[in-house]
Amino acid sequence: MNKFLLFISALLIAFGIDAQETKLTGTIIGVRPNNDNNVAEKAFDGDLNTFFRGDYYNSDYNRLWVGLDLGKEHVITKIGFAPRQDSDYAKKAVLSVFQGANNPDFSDAMPIAMVKEEYEKGKMHYIPVNVSMGFRYVRFMGASGVKGSVAELEFYGYEGVGDDSQFFQVTNLPTVAFNTPNMSEILSKEDKHPGSTVYVISEDGTRIFADYNCQMKGRGNASWNNPKKPFQIKLDKKRNILPDAPAKAKKWTLINNYGDKTLMRNMVSFEMSRLIGMPYTPYIRFVDVIYNGEYEGCYQLCDQVEVNPGRVNVTEIEIDETTHEPVDPNADISGGYLIEIDGYANNEPAGGWFTGNYASYSIPVTIKSPDDLTKASKPYLYIKAHFEKFLANVLSWQAANNVGMIEKYLDLDSFLKYVLVGELNGNTDTFWSTYMSKEVGSDKFVVGPVWDIDLGFNNDNRTYDINKRFIYDYLCLSDNVSYASNGFRDVVRRIIKENPDSRARLKEIWEDMRYNGNWTYGYFDEKIEEWVDEIYESQYLNFVRWPILSSSVHMNPGSRGSFRGEVNAIKEYLLARFVNLDKIIGIKSPSGIEDVVATPEPGVVKYYNLSGIEVSADDLTPGIYIKVDSTGSEKILVK
Ligand code: CA
Repeated sequence: MNKFLLFISALLIAFGIDAQETKLTGTIIGVRPNNDNNVAEKAFDGDLNTFFRGDYYNSDYNRLWVGLDLGKEHVITKIGFAPRQDSDYAKKAVLSVFQGANNPDFSDAMPIAMVKEEYEKGKMHYIPVNVSMGFRYVRFMGASGVKGSVAELEFYGYEGVGDDSQFFQVTNLPTVAFNTPNMSEILSKEDKHPGSTVYVISEDGTRIFADYNCQMKGRGNASWNNPKKPFQIKLDKKRNILPDAPAKAKKWTLINNYGDKTLMRNMVSFEMSRLIGMPYTPYIRFVDVIYNGEYEGCYQLCDQVEVNPGRVNVTEIEIDETTHEPVDPNADISGGYLIEIDGYANNEPAGGWFTGNYASYSIPVTIKSPDDLTKASKPYLYIKAHFEKFLANVLSWQAANNVGMIEKYLDLDSFLKYVLVGELNGNTDTFWSTYMSKEVGSDKFVVGPVWDIDLGFNNDNRTYDINKRFIYDYLCLSDNVSYASNGFRDVVRRIIKENPDSRARLKEIWEDMRYNGNWTYGYFDEKIEEWVDEIYESQYLNFVRWPILSSSVHMNPGSRGSFRGEVNAIKEYLLARFVNLDKIIGIKSPSGIEDVVATPEPGVVKYYNLSGIEVSADDLTPGIYIKVDSTGSEKILVK
């Protein structure tokens, strides 16, 4: 807002004159109607029985809209909305978004209001708008399935360019709203849309981050196949997308969490990673996402896992895109690298991955950084050879009794912490995708970050119920589901099972976290409830958008029918998981509880209450008991 306008508005306020709200008029604009009857004018004819309806141009992708060109900028204060009366259009209109823009193509459109509830048919409803910026163009973007249909619209406000003090946030979470040029659909993770606009609105709408020349694209492997799509934002230049993000960077991810109906498996796991002191834990925030005017649900705004200060902080090797060799021919190519032991490695271009070979093993590895290499380039040959040295050292039989061989090419603590986070969250992809980095001048791979936990916390039908399997990754290494290759299974086995020194170190780290480090059920129970509160409104809207709470999607082993039920399931999992891992790793549980039993077994097992009185299995109410069988006794918690 320029100084003159600030002065004028200050004067108006000083004299108690408020800008007058009036019903606004303008040129009616919209996408083509589906027939000669349901034209855009029908949304502004004052008749609740007539309606606008847009025409499909793509059955899977209809961002259909109708609105007004107000001729000049206006600050919108209120919107009148009446849903189409027939069929279930009032219900389908929920999540429709109102946008304001100053470019006629709406490339700069931002959300100003949303239909958050089903409105009664046959009357006008007035939605207050609290956005201080003026817009020349305003429109109604029909929610998915409503086909743009609306019986009647009214926009209220006053003329003025307004200011940038107040914007619309869908819920208490930051809102990420982005537009691709011409609202083109993002079709794949390779389908790039330069010239896109992204807004991040936070702090109760008082802060806005904007980039009018970013690139949007899809991302993810299995997760791209879900109807709720994951995206990558690539900003025009390196910036902090939210003030608390530690990295200034171009690339940010929007994680969809479709198969994770708690929406927080990554959040809980990143907290585990932070607490145990992984060298790098990615930035993560819950957000609401609006994509080309359509509400897409509750997402996580995260770092891109890449080499960057504040992320994987190793030296970046700059590669010449013509020669595919380092720009500086004298550069020390011993670092830095970011690689990923990766079950999907063979989808990468030829110079972007290799197999690490040793004896009969071949392990697929993606080179995340530097990229743009060829198989003949020096960095490619260097990192492949170095990875193979690591394999040879760990897998040779002598390493079973020589932790020094394991540690020569591996930062052992980062590996063990990574293993323990994977064990605690029970993520079956822990070794399907394992990141490692290597800094210049160091021989050692540092493991991490922890990433992509949607199958964790018992969310994988191939391994459910992990707690009933008793041990999952730690010793039960014959499971085929979670490893990028058999070779990597043997690397893990060598380090956490066969070598007594590294195994002792694993136990030491676990015990320290359990007794001194907040790796307790009580800590996570409290954090999970905080996150439930934080996303409560957003999760509600998310599951209006994606009504999947009663179905099994992706690799779900089942469904609990509600968000609360899903959250309770991860808590139940964690309660039992801590106790099981204490037992497997060989420490006494800090709580003193040695087992968690959902369904007590009758028969040869006897149960005693804490007064020493025997209780029959059928009479066990939730609480603590002593369980006695032929192998001995233990304290159990009955849920
Ligand atoms: Ca009408």
